[in-house]
Amino acid sequence: MLTHVLRGLQHRCPGCGAAPLYRRYLKPVARCAACGETFAHLRADDFPPYLTILIVGHLIVPLILLAEQHGASTAFQIALWLPITLALTLALLPRCKGAVIGLMWSLGAAAGERR
Ligand SMILES: [Zn+2]
Repeated sequence: MLTHVLRGLQHRCPGCGAAPLYRRYLKPVARCAACGETFAHLRADDFPPYLTILIVGHLIVPLILLAEQHGASTAFQIALWLPITLALTLALLPRCKGAVIGLMWSLGAAAGERR
């Protein structure tokens, strides 16, 4: 299971790890180019954004509080934390989604919400 999650974290197919998991930023491929595994039925929904917010919040908020204690100006903090928060969020979101897809794949998640 950990191997599949780690492959997802690296944007690779959780099954074989040989082909990319995404065809665009957050859009998974319908079928793995290397092993043929399908991913269209695996819907991560809101869990990856939740994980991303949890991680980024736990990294950034203590640093903001620390800067506040040391008297950093509001303008400086906005100029510092906004780009860092945005960059971290954009970097972590596809990794969290890949990890969730890898976890769902390894647990054999069914296509219960197909429409
Ligand atoms: Zn594959």
